[in-house]
Amino acid sequence: MADVHSKEIRSHNMSKIKSKDTKPELLVRKFLFKNGFRYRLHLKVLPGKPDIVLPKYRTVIFINGCFWHGHEGCKYYVIPKTRTEWWSDKINSNVKKDIKSVLQLKELGWRVIIIWECELKRSKVEHLLNSLVTELKR
Ligand SMILES: [Zn+2]
Repeated sequence: MADVHSKEIRSHNMSKIKSKDTKPELLVRKFLFKNGFRYRLHLKVLPGKPDIVLPKYRTVIFINGCFWHGHEGCKYYVIPKTRTEWWSDKINSNVKKDIKSVLQLKELGWRVIIIWECELKRSKVEHLLNSLVTELKR
C-alpha cells in the first residue's frame, strides 16, 4: 500500500512518454490476463488498430479516451471554449473513423467491444471488468 502514490505518479509519467501504454489500457489487459484470457496488442492489420485483440474469442477491444473519441453525453467530453470549431471538426473526424473501423471489423467477423475511459474510473471499474468477462464468455 505504501507504494500506491508513487506508482500512480510513475504510470502517469509513463503514459506521457508512451501513449500506447496508457493506464486504462493496462488495467484492462492485466485483468484479462489474470482471468486467463490471452490477447495480442495493436494489430496493425486490423481496421482502426484495436488496442486489444482476442483471437480465440474473435473479439477486439477499443479503449477510447472520452475526449478524443467524443463520448456522447459524458462529462469528460467537453469541447474547449477556444477554437471550438477546430476541436469539433477534429473530434467529429475521429468519431467518423471509429464508426468506419467498427463496421469494417464487423464485416470481417469480429465482435467489437468499446470501453470508455470514464467506465474505468475507480467506482465503476469492477462492474465494467466483470461484465466484460461475462460478455466474452457468452
Ligand atoms: Zn466517457
